[in-house]
Amino acid sequence: MHTLPELSYGYGDLGKYISKEIMTLHHSKHHQSYIDKLNKALEESPDLKDRTIESLLSDLDELPAAVRTAVRNHGGGHYNHSLFWQWMSPEGGGEPTGRIAEGLQARYGSFQAFVDEFSAKATGVFGSGWVWLQPNFDIITTPNQDTPLIMGQPEPLLGLDVWEHAYYLDYKNKRDDYIQAWWNVVNWSFVASRLPDGE
Ligand code: MN
Repeated sequence: MHTLPELSYGYGDLGKYISKEIMTLHHSKHHQSYIDKLNKALEESPDLKDRTIESLLSDLDELPAAVRTAVRNHGGGHYNHSLFWQWMSPEGGGEPTGRIAEGLQARYGSFQAFVDEFSAKATGVFGSGWVWLQPNFDIITTPNQDTPLIMGQPEPLLGLDVWEHAYYLDYKNKRDDYIQAWWNVVNWSFVASRLPDGE
């Protein structure tokens, strides 16, 4: 059984940038719903019950057709959100240091140029989806709850949820304002911890 991970901070702790109301609904209702639907779907395939979510998503094409779509959508939602909570922190924001800073500088010329490109791609996601920073410092986007793992990509360093449920209560139709606010809570030490050794 997959279960809802606890946050390492309170629902109201990002309040200046993301309200307690959004965090409460997003974590306890939206994320919980992905988990409930994933667990329900896996009841049909008991042999998959002990597999990690990373393993299921990495082998999507090998899964029985009856569960494949549920794993893609609800399993993807579970995986993406489990990371998303950790990519934010009340002590977040500012700029990365070390290998992340060096990688972004080398690829984009400056940290701000990276922020601008990531933000523009996040704004440009049509409908619901995510934008990701990959270990090779590519910025990619996915629709719905698709996750880089199902495309044979490595696990992302950083990701941003641009579904309306992530911002509408606070920002209404102004996705740009949500994206700009979000940089103030990005947990760069968690991002750095996801770099593969030796990259
Ligand atoms: Mn979401």
